[in-house]
Amino acid sequence: MAKLVLFDLDDTILGSVGNRKGLWAEMFTEVFGMKDPPVLKRRDGMTEREIVHDVAAEAGVDEETIKKKLHQAYRILREKFRQLDVMVFPGVKELLETMKEAEEIKMGVLTGNSEERGWMKLEKAGLKDYFKFGVFSEDGEVREDLFQVALEKAEKAFGMKFEPQDIWIIGDTPRDVSTAVKGGARCIAVATGPFKERELLVEGADFVLKDLTDYKRIVSIILGKEE
Ligand SMILES: [Mg+2]
Repeated sequence: MAKLVLFDLDDTILGSVGNRKGLWAEMFTEVFGMKDPPVLKRRDGMTEREIVHDVAAEAGVDEETIKKKLHQAYRILREKFRQLDVMVFPGVKELLETMKEAEEIKMGVLTGNSEERGWMKLEKAGLKDYFKFGVFSEDGEVREDLFQVALEKAEKAFGMKFEPQDIWIIGDTPRDVSTAVKGGARCIAVATGPFKERELLVEGADFVLKDLTDYKRIVSIILGKEE
């Protein structure tokens, strides 16, 4: 039975080098006129749409204005983040290469990044060609919505249907884990982001790893050779 593996991007397979939070704050000032935008904390795992919406709404911006300015916000974020360098996390290249060789494994991206920003990061990281499709911020209101869209896009991309139990999400936040749990899929969580192994385990991850360096074990977990 073929397996579908959906990778989160930020803090799972790659990271941005530079002041990400500062760039977000600049965007809130430029687009919504917020003088002292709150520092982003614990927003990891949220989609761009959720972050823009919640921070602006908390600052008192009305719903209609947020909706109207959403695309401007995406565009400015894109321009700002273009300046950042991307680094690939340890073990990732080896993991993707091994999965590419395994005929039973199909790969996709499931991230809160906007589509353009997600592909841009993958391209900068030299990882774009490993992925035939991706699910992004624009595909749903909240991260958990993205799972259903992933099923549809995967079917189109590979010409086959995947059952939720044959789908694995690899991510670094409780939201990655809950997306898998709610979708009936499985999850390997990695503690390479801001969350500790224990926090990811209580959320219901099937496996929690320190990072992706033990790529052979990850592949055998996905192929069902390890319980
Ligand atoms: Mg992440």
